Amino acid sequence: MSLPDAPLSLRQLSKAGLCIGCGACVGTQALPGASMALDAFGQFKPIGPAGFERARSTALARLCPFSPTATNEDELAAARFPAAPARDNRLGRLEAAYVGAVAEAPYRQQGSSGGMVSWVAAELLRRGLVDGVAHVSPSEGDMFFRYGISRTPESVLAGAKSRYYPVELSGVLKQIREVPGRYAIVGVPCFIKAVHLARAQEPVLAERIAYTLGLFCGHMKSARLVESFAWQMDTLADAVARPEFRLKGPERPANWYTAQLTLKDGTVRQKDWWHLGDGDWGAGFFQNSACNFCDDVVAETADISFGDAWVEPYSSDWRGTNVVVVRSPVLRELVEHAIGTGRLELKLAGADYVANTQAAGFRQRREGLAYRLTWRRRGIKPRKRVTPSRDLPFQRKLIYRLRYAISAWSHRLFYLARRQHAPALYIGWAHAALRLYHGLAYGRGRIGALARALRLTRGDG
Ligand SMILES: Cc1cc2nc3c(=O)[nH]c(=O)nc-3n(C[C@H](O)[C@H](O)[C@H](O)COP(=O)(O)OP(=O)(O)OC[C@H]3O[C@@H](n4cnc5c(N)ncnc54)[C@H](O)[C@@H]3O)c2cc1C
Repeated sequence: MSLPDAPLSLRQLSKAGLCIGCGACVGTQALPGASMALDAFGQFKPIGPAGFERARSTALARLCPFSPTATNEDELAAARFPAAPARDNRLGRLEAAYVGAVAEAPYRQQGSSGGMVSWVAAELLRRGLVDGVAHVSPSEGDMFFRYGISRTPESVLAGAKSRYYPVELSGVLKQIREVPGRYAIVGVPCFIKAVHLARAQEPVLAERIAYTLGLFCGHMKSARLVESFAWQMDTLADAVARPEFRLKGPERPANWYTAQLTLKDGTVRQKDWWHLGDGDWGAGFFQNSACNFCDDVVAETADISFGDAWVEPYSSDWRGTNVVVVRSPVLRELVEHAIGTGRLELKLAGADYVANTQAAGFRQRREGLAYRLTWRRRGIKPRKRVTPSRDLPFQRKLIYRLRYAISAWSHRLFYLARRQHAPALYIGWAHAALRLYHGLAYGRGRIGALARALRLTRGDG
C-alpha cells in the first residue's frame, strides 16, 4: 500500500543517503532547471539553481526509486504482470527462468556473461518490436561510458559488457520524449523502477517505453573505482582511454575478474581484481549509499532480467553463463522460439536455483537490510519490503557494519588522497580494510585466525 502523497525535497533524500543518481527526476522535470553532474565522490547527483534542492515536490516523491512514498516493486510488478503464473519472494513475479547463453555468435563472446542482454535487445530491434534501445556504451569526453540510444543490432552489440561505472538516465528520457517511436531500456533494478515510476507520471513515456531489460545488481560503483584501478596500475585516470572491468578468455574462469586499462598512448595494463585493494566486490568499496537501502536484487519490475550464473559448473566456465528471469509473455515467446531454433542455449531453471546464484546479494539485501533498518537514522526513513530485525548472529552484524563502514569511508579516503595527490593514503587504507573484511567474512589471514578463535566468523561472506 502506498503511503500518503507527502512532498519531498532532493535535500531530504540526499541527506538520508537515498539519492542513487539515476537522473529520472531531471529527465522528467520533477526537478525543473536541474541537470546531472558528478559530485565530489564521483557519483551523479542533480544540480540546479540556488535553493532548488530544498523545494518540496510531490512529483519527486512519486518518482524517486528510493522515495519512501513511491509505489514499491511489488505494487509495480502486480500492475505490470497480473497474470504471471509464478511468484517468488526473491525473484518477484515470473513467467519462467532459465540458465544458459546465446548460441548465435558473437553475443556470448562479446558479452560480459552469456551475451543474453545484447541478444534480446538486438532481437527486439530485428523483429521491429522497438525502434531504439537505451543502454550504456563507451563514450568520448569526460565520461568513459554513458547512456545512449542504439537503433541497430550492430550498435547494441557495440555497447555490450557490464560497466561498473556511474551512468544516468536524464538524457535518454528526454530523447524518448522528443523522438516518437517504441523503445527498450536496459538498466539496474532501481533504474528500471525509476523508469516505471516515470511512465506512471508521463503518458508519452508509458506509450513509448515498450520493454524494460533489467540487470541483476550487487551495487552501483562511483567513478573513483576506475581512478583507483589506474593508481594501482601505476598510472592516472587522465591517461586512460578505455577501461574494461571484466576480460574474457580461456585462461581465466568467468568469476575471475580481470580489469584492463587501455591508455591514451596505446599501451595496455591489466590486473586481476583479487590483487587490487578494493577489488573484492563483496567488501562494498565505492558503493553508492542508496544501495544500502535496496531490496531488489533481480530487477523485479523489468519485463526480463539477466544475471551471471554464479554457481558451478558455470562460474568456472570462462565463456560466461546467464541466468534469465522472464516476466512478459511476449518475451517468453521470443526466448522459447529462439531456444527451439537453436539460437539460444537455455534450459529451464527453478526459482531456488536462480536465487542461489545470487546468494550473497540476497543476504546483503534481505538479512543485512533488515539489520540496517534497525539502525538509528536522521531524516526520512526508507520504506522497504523487508521487516527491520536485529535477529541475526553477532558475526553477521559485524560483517554488515564493516561493509557499511568500508563503503562510506572509501569515498572519503579517496577524496582526501585525490586532493593531497597521495594515492598511498587510500591504497594503504584499502588493503588494510580488505584484510579486516577477509578475516571477518572468510576467516582468512591472521585476523581470520583471531576471528575464528573468538568465534567471530562463519566464513560465508
Ligand atoms: C552495476 C552492475 C552491477 C551488477 N551486479 C550483478 C550481480 O550482483 N549479480 C549478477 O549476476 N549480475 C550483476 N550484474 C549484471 C552482469 O554484470 C551482466 O550485465 C549480466 O549478467 C548480463 O550479461 P550479458 O553478457 O547478458 O550482457 P551483455 O550482452 O554484455 O550486455 C550488457 C548490457 O548492459 C548494459 N550496461 C552495462 N553497464 C550498465 C550499467 N551500469 N547500467 C545500465 N546498463 C548497463 C550494456 O549497455 C549492455 O546493453 C551487474 C551489472 C551492473 C552494471
